[in-house]
Amino acid sequence: MFERGIIMAKRKKADWNLRKFRKSNTWITLVFFVIAAILACVFVSLFVSAFLSYVVDNKMTSEYNTIQQMAIIYENAEEQGYPESKSIIDTKERDFFIKDKDGNIIFQKGENTCSDISGTLSLTDFSRGVKIYLDTESNGFILEKDGKDGDLEIDPAELFKWMLKKNESYTQLTQDNSSKMLALPFWFCIEVKGGQEQLFGKAYFQADLRDGIFMAIFAVAIGLQIFTIFVLMLVNIISAATSQRKMTHIFFLDPVTRDHNWMYFLVRGEHLLRHGKSRKSNYAVLDLVFVKYRNYCVCHSVEEGEKLLRNVNAIVNKQLNKKEICSHYASANFALLKQYKTEEELKRWIENLLTTLQGMDPNHHFAFHIGAELLPVSVDANGKIQRRKNVDLEKEYNNACAARTTLEESDDSGYAFLNEQLIEEQKWIDVVHEEQQKALENEEFVVYYQPKYDPRTKVLKGAEALLRWDSPRHGFKSPGAVIPIFEKNGFIVNIDHYMITHVARDQKKWLDAGYKCVPISVNISRAHFIEPDLAEQIRDMVDAVGTPHELLELEVTESAFFDDKKALVTTIQRLQSYGFMVSMDDFGSGYSSLNSLKDMPLNILKLDAGFFSGDLENERGEIVVSEAIRLAKSLHMETVAEGVELKEQVDFLARQGCDMIQGYYFARPMPPEDYETRMRTGVAPEVEEPVEEIAQAEEQPAQAVGEINDPD
Ligand code: C2E
Ligand code: CA
Ligand code: CA
Repeated sequence: MFERGIIMAKRKKADWNLRKFRKSNTWITLVFFVIAAILACVFVSLFVSAFLSYVVDNKMTSEYNTIQQMAIIYENAEEQGYPESKSIIDTKERDFFIKDKDGNIIFQKGENTCSDISGTLSLTDFSRGVKIYLDTESNGFILEKDGKDGDLEIDPAELFKWMLKKNESYTQLTQDNSSKMLALPFWFCIEVKGGQEQLFGKAYFQADLRDGIFMAIFAVAIGLQIFTIFVLMLVNIISAATSQRKMTHIFFLDPVTRDHNWMYFLVRGEHLLRHGKSRKSNYAVLDLVFVKYRNYCVCHSVEEGEKLLRNVNAIVNKQLNKKEICSHYASANFALLKQYKTEEELKRWIENLLTTLQGMDPNHHFAFHIGAELLPVSVDANGKIQRRKNVDLEKEYNNACAARTTLEESDDSGYAFLNEQLIEEQKWIDVVHEEQQKALENEEFVVYYQPKYDPRTKVLKGAEALLRWDSPRHGFKSPGAVIPIFEKNGFIVNIDHYMITHVARDQKKWLDAGYKCVPISVNISRAHFIEPDLAEQIRDMVDAVGTPHELLELEVTESAFFDDKKALVTTIQRLQSYGFMVSMDDFGSGYSSLNSLKDMPLNILKLDAGFFSGDLENERGEIVVSEAIRLAKSLHMETVAEGVELKEQVDFLARQGCDMIQGYYFARPMPPEDYETRMRTGVAPEVEEPVEEIAQAEEQPAQAVGEINDPD
């Protein structure tokens, strides 16, 4: 049970990691891709516009300089009084005209194709913008933007059409006339004679073949760069997706069945229950277990056992559709998520499955148990299907396991659904889990003491400390109602600490008050023995209170002996070296009692209550008990008989030399105040009750045991 808790916690963490991994991987790649794409676009457009501006600026400056030279020549000639001053400008072989300050053309050479649309052009070499007019030929594709003066815009479609049209008849403008060129005409306007006149000269934005080749190379280089970036990004995305697929496959792979594992069950299962069409279906969570799997492995081999599990997995999967799951959980357990229409139909399906599984190997009689928890679709008052938003598949599977455990007694195949009683138990487990820490802090756990008496002299020889939960909300609870839950969820370790400290405090208090104290035993849970420094922890806790070590005894249950034997022996030896006594609890209730005795250097042997609960006249039972006592004596161990309720048993045990008796015959577990009285008396009170009455006490519910007063 305890191990299951640890496995669950580990798996939860792994599942969480997987979800994180899947999310982060996809998102990082996508975000990276988008950022890189945006950066590439921004970079390319900035670079292209910077380059074009540079080219345009250069060419336009050169054209402007030409027209400016014409203006200078004209001004100089006018200054020097040449009558033919206007004709002299002709050296530049450009069309031009001159307007006076009233706007009348006073001289013109060549054709005047200057339009009315004008703007200001910024050139790097000139601090102020230069005045530019469109040519009537080019104003088809150069538009006045929003009618605002000076703000011009090229219409690319019109420009393209214009270029096609011009393709056949490029204007020959270069000196050597050797190369064809594209010439985009416009007019520069320069003020002359101190603003008295304006000279309009025709200029061209020219692009020759070299420009074209250069631009083409440039465009190809940029294109290649963008293409490379996109290819790299694509490769990155594809490889990320592939490795994610591979990782996901590994995460979801069960090493035994080589099929889906528990993590897949949780992730895919919760998806099916919450999303898509499947969320509108009734689902059942099933726990399927192969009964006596361990026996099969022992008789054959682990490999054979695993082969069998693979067969089981294949058979179950054949009976499931795509919206249903079968995953190997652990050992011989499978977790199933199965759709169903009605409970009856589901029962029939389970019965069929059990029949098929039992018949999988005619040479063997296999048995399987199935526990089921139903998750029907719930509908609200308006008939709308409620979402299973908070479904916790792990919890539901636990419920299915709880239902399955009711079949554990049987070796035959069978199935069980979670019933009301089991649901109540599950609720109680949740309550305990929620409140345990607060209860500990509020000291709601109380220590009861059950005295141990010498059967011959009736002298008080010891006591066992037993826990009770005096809950203000749930009443007085016996350990049977909480200890198994604490053992499962790991809280038992805190309880052990609590009990040791409280018993040490009580003993110290009584010692200081002058009571004749006897050793009190405290139960140490199996889970606690995993801690390598347990002996030191106990020593320090007792020393912190100042109680002599010999007044404390530690009880180890027989089941702890199945764990790491070497570590257990070391801990026991260390405890003994610190002066504590160690006893083996419930001797005779497990499998390997004698074997454990062989290896464990224990001080006290506690004979399990089971020896004294059966037939009183059982001669064989008496032989076993007397031989067990003899065996303990030979191993220099003291003996305590637990659960002794009858005088005959006490007399018998006295004759056999049993050292102590802990049972209802002498005393029930009692609160510390009553135990103080017992210490004061020192000997067991006379028992006068008839045998039947005491025997009836055995039938009291466990919860009431602590509340019943002494028999005397
Ligand atoms: P256990 O350690 O075997 O304790 C003895 C149990 O037998 C006690 O039950 C006691 O009340 C009961 N008992 C004693 N004499 C008789 C008798 O003559 N007839 C019958 N029918 N019963 C008798 P309790 O107090 O209910 O404790 C049950 C179990 O809970 C304990 O069994 C022990 O395993 C566990 N437990 C109790 N307290 C603690 C604790 O503080 N720590 C840990 N780890 N376990 C505890
Ligand atoms: Ca015990
Ligand atoms: Ca016991």
